[in-house]
Amino acid sequence: MKVFKFTAVLFVLTLIFVFQVAAQETKIKWFGHAAFSITTPKGKVLLIDPWLKNPLNPEAKDDKDAFAAVPKADYILITHGHRDHVGDAIEIAKKTGATLISNPELAGNLVKLADFPSKQAETDAIMGIGGEIQIADGEVTVAMTAAVHSSSVFNPKADATEAERAYGGNPAGFVLIIKNGPIIYHSGDTAYFKDMETIGEEYQIDLALLNIGGHFGMEPRMAAKAAKSVGAKMAVPHHFATFPGITRNSDSFASELKKLKIPFYEMKPGETVSFRGKQMVKK
Ligand SMILES: [Zn+2]
Repeated sequence: MKVFKFTAVLFVLTLIFVFQVAAQETKIKWFGHAAFSITTPKGKVLLIDPWLKNPLNPEAKDDKDAFAAVPKADYILITHGHRDHVGDAIEIAKKTGATLISNPELAGNLVKLADFPSKQAETDAIMGIGGEIQIADGEVTVAMTAAVHSSSVFNPKADATEAERAYGGNPAGFVLIIKNGPIIYHSGDTAYFKDMETIGEEYQIDLALLNIGGHFGMEPRMAAKAAKSVGAKMAVPHHFATFPGITRNSDSFASELKKLKIPFYEMKPGETVSFRGKQMVKK
């Protein structure tokens, strides 16, 4: 009987331990292109550049409901105003009530020109490059970093006399510092710039999500250089193979990283990887 009790207690303790470890996981999902979701250990969902209806997303193919896989979102982070980054933000914001994190000019024009819900775009989460904010009850610190790119926002209401592209503020990248989780850098659409080293000095980047598409942003070999500059412990490519004219695969990025001895992981569109603390656990 005593042995049985002991075994039962041990079993319950093991279960509690397993659940606690599972609860400490940060989940990162790639939807294709620059779109990622990050689910924190406490269950908050952050979407970055949510173009869920991009051609690579398996959950958007064949008339599937691309939003079915995103039942909730607490925050939408947008690096810059281009259509392949704003993506489906407005529809998702209306559906989920998520709060917008972007620069003020982009936020203002998304409200004015594209009907982004104003209450979700006029909060303390509007920020500028160089700044940091705390979100998710302090579980996540968001830093907005510089990006060398452009940032116009499409104006669907433009008449024949107006420009189709309105001002979208400065383009940016984001660093996300997650409590009991990794520090993640999303580069947006930036070109390589030497001051990325400052990002690496300031934040211990566990995971760098880097645009490798070339043509409009970093070529793969420069993206590998970016991984080195920010001191990435792991580099994951994005913004490739989505449409003609950009890098078709991650091969050259992977081989450049190998030369630099930086760990590389290619996610498949629709794939989720998990971090336990700062350690990546592939799924
Ligand atoms: Zn862009």
